Amino acid sequence: MKVLVINCGSSSLKYQLIDSESEEVLAKGLCERIGIEGSCVTHQKAGGPKKKEEADMSDHTDAVKIVIEKLTDPADGVIDSLSRIGAVGHRIVHGGERFKGSVLIDGEVLEAISQCSALAPLHNPANLIGIRSCQQVMPGVPMAAVFDTAFHQTMPAKAYLYGLPLEYYEKYKIRRYGFHGTSHDFVSRRAAQILGKKREELRIIVCHLGNGASVSAVCHGKSIDTSMGLTPLEGLIMGTRSGDMDPAIVGFLAEKEDMSASEVINVCNKRSGVLGLSGGLSSDFRDLAQAAADGNKTAETALEAYAYRVGKYIGAYAAAMNGVDVIAFTAGVGENNAEVRQLIAQYIGFLGTSIDPGKNRIRGEEVILSAEGDRVVTMVVPTDEELAIARETVALVEKR
Ligand code: AMP
Repeated sequence: MKVLVINCGSSSLKYQLIDSESEEVLAKGLCERIGIEGSCVTHQKAGGPKKKEEADMSDHTDAVKIVIEKLTDPADGVIDSLSRIGAVGHRIVHGGERFKGSVLIDGEVLEAISQCSALAPLHNPANLIGIRSCQQVMPGVPMAAVFDTAFHQTMPAKAYLYGLPLEYYEKYKIRRYGFHGTSHDFVSRRAAQILGKKREELRIIVCHLGNGASVSAVCHGKSIDTSMGLTPLEGLIMGTRSGDMDPAIVGFLAEKEDMSASEVINVCNKRSGVLGLSGGLSSDFRDLAQAAADGNKTAETALEAYAYRVGKYIGAYAAAMNGVDVIAFTAGVGENNAEVRQLIAQYIGFLGTSIDPGKNRIRGEEVILSAEGDRVVTMVVPTDEELAIARETVALVEKR
């Protein structure tokens, strides 16, 4: 079956067409500046060059129509008609407590996703627009919703409750939800597979280190804790997000800088993390590693602070699971950035594991970084959220 995977933002739409039998990506692309002047589409057929061009997209329905045009284009396309698309898988950011797994989309599911919008006001409405646009352009094609939060719904109350008055959980559902669930699930599953073990036998710490970053404790196949919280702002220091900090800072900064609470939160989301720590130099770890190698001390400190936070979470989750068998690194930084992994290596030796500098040079591939005989296996497992969404979608469609 050919599955179209859609990841819809407020003004963007990312897509991949995946053949579920071969698990090959047939084509992929990105529509940008939807509804804004200068909208454009970048499309790439497997093995072909990336082609970027201007395209009129006044709304997401226009964008979906362009995606279909590109996929069926005689030169750059990969299918002869829309009818070749067997199903659509939608990445949905927030499923609240309602969604503990992926589901086929119907009217009731749409309503429930909409009810979760209060928890993710920037993301869920955009995700819903993506679904409705696809339904308009592809009526009758089965569609699945795959949630970033669902994998973490197995967390116990002691991990998901904040130390706040319980009434706020009861009234507003303020609690830890966690994100990147599709990736934490995919990577922990694959790590066990590579080691020839059942995931249910293992205690795995997954470090999803991308521009957004989170760590999870996957104990015997279930997520029991994760570093992101009510929103993706909590936990690790990220590309532009602060991660954990004293909540009193929000009030303090609001007063000192004459900002509203939401303006301070905006700073914490967009101008903080390694970007903020490096004095605005860059949120891209390649730039920071280069700058640090050239002697830039703030860039060096930003990378050290980033790695230190990851190290602290690994220690915490080893305690949460009463031990750890596998530490898996994934996503842009986790898969590719040898400098950051080497910095993290300083904090994991006490667990009985190591990162071999030779193996650590390998980028973007499945590799075991620890030494033969180490008590804990440390490894790199490239994530593939789109493939995970396609697999979930096919499983649901075939079960109908
Ligand atoms: P993601 O959000 O997973 O796409 O990750 C984006 C981050 O991965 C960026 O900060 C990049 O600096 C980092 N990254 C991607 N490719 C490389 C690479 N080849 N070497 C070092 N860092 C990389």
